[in-house]
Amino acid sequence: MSVVSFLIPLIVIIGFILGAVYIIRTRAYIIRTNKERWNSIPSIDEYKVENPDCVTNKGMKCVVCNSTSIKSLGFGHPESTNRIFICNHCGTQLYRTNS
Ligand SMILES: [Zn+2]
Repeated sequence: MSVVSFLIPLIVIIGFILGAVYIIRTRAYIIRTNKERWNSIPSIDEYKVENPDCVTNKGMKCVVCNSTSIKSLGFGHPESTNRIFICNHCGTQLYRTNS
């Protein structure tokens, strides 16, 4: 067995290991940044406490522009039960809910 025929499989194995480590670290980074982003948005209860004027009998309104047109987006994917509510008028992320 020559040195080259020994080195090539070794290099391939090391390449797979480094690739797996890279993928795992990247996924962990994405999960961590998603969690940080989720936690950076106030919950609906926090939003109500911080902005009592935004609670109206027609629903919630935007703290920045007073618009009551608010869209609900799934966090991570469209059907997610974790929802982020964003003002349709000025684009401010207002609050989050999960049910
Ligand atoms: Zn707004």
